Amino acid sequence: MLGYDLPEEARNVLGEHFEVLGPFETEEDRIEAMRDAVGHLGGRISKELLQAAPSLRAISTPSAGYDHLDLEDITRRGIVVMNSSAPLAETTADLAFALILATARRVAELDALVRSGHWTGNEHREHNGVDVHGKVLGIIGLGHIGSGVARRGALGFDMRVLYYSPRHRPDVEASTGAKKVDLDELLITSDFVCVTAPLGSETRGLIGRRELHIMKPTAIIVNIARGAIVVEDELAEALRTGVIRGAGLDVFVHEPLPPSSPFMSLPNTVLLPHIGSASDETRSQTAVYAAENLVQYLVFGAPRNVVNPAALEAHLGR
Ligand code: NAP
Repeated sequence: MLGYDLPEEARNVLGEHFEVLGPFETEEDRIEAMRDAVGHLGGRISKELLQAAPSLRAISTPSAGYDHLDLEDITRRGIVVMNSSAPLAETTADLAFALILATARRVAELDALVRSGHWTGNEHREHNGVDVHGKVLGIIGLGHIGSGVARRGALGFDMRVLYYSPRHRPDVEASTGAKKVDLDELLITSDFVCVTAPLGSETRGLIGRRELHIMKPTAIIVNIARGAIVVEDELAEALRTGVIRGAGLDVFVHEPLPPSSPFMSLPNTVLLPHIGSASDETRSQTAVYAAENLVQYLVFGAPRNVVNPAALEAHLGR
């Protein structure tokens, strides 16, 4: 069993059933340790690493997203991949709302103004933001995180919730009044657009120039999913020219965000270093949950949170 720099609680979960190796100083050490590994928890996995791991049966990622893995290659090798959406959804929904509020009320920009000594009076209209409560909230991808965002918007801020997602969610509709619409209707109608869909072939570049131009000029977009779902240059241009009002971004195509990014000089953006699930409690709980994924499958033969069921079928069929 191969672990990354696991919190102790997660290491204990695995330690009851497996020898846990890692963290490693070098990639060579890591590759060497894979020779007999049956499971892998955390981090990127190169082709070289996979080739060095003939016994590998399962990969568990302590994240909701798994776009950092070459799922096609991994599935072809009959290795099961499990993700960990449930324990981090509420924390990430909190952050989505932090970005909605911070962008609408210009929290980061005005904090910088106070610190720089440029706060000269209280009657300045130029400090105005826009309201969040009572507005229309459009959610792209109504899964674990999207449902949490919907609940916060509807119940906490009296917002009307629209969503664009492949499946109907009658449970979320019943508890929040959310309405399923097509993407254009969501973009045309929403005051806040929150992206909480996974990155994949259908969502890469989903929000580009055309989509931004049908949004309200007063609209704010928040992306806590993956940077590549939005065409970054086109978003930056829309923000620079007033096509939309603002953006709150936790994720980017290139992370860490390079200094040359056009977002850096735009005051109507709030930029965060991919911290959606980064709370002490949730990071630890998510690591335990990811460890339990491995135990459930490898020890008890009861896989859960499998994102490539084809590999599971191949494996069980052996
Ligand atoms: P989830 O529970 O799988 O929810 C994703 C939702 O998106 C599902 O309802 C899914 O519908 C929907 N969806 C799939 N394809 C879509 C499409 N083409 N258009 C619109 N919606 C689509 O995942 P989650 O836990 O909410 O996480 C969502 C994403 O957030 C992750 O994939 C990850 O990339 C990102 N994330 C970021 C952070 C961060 O630190 N910023 C933290 C956690 C997660 P179906 O269920 O019908 O497929």
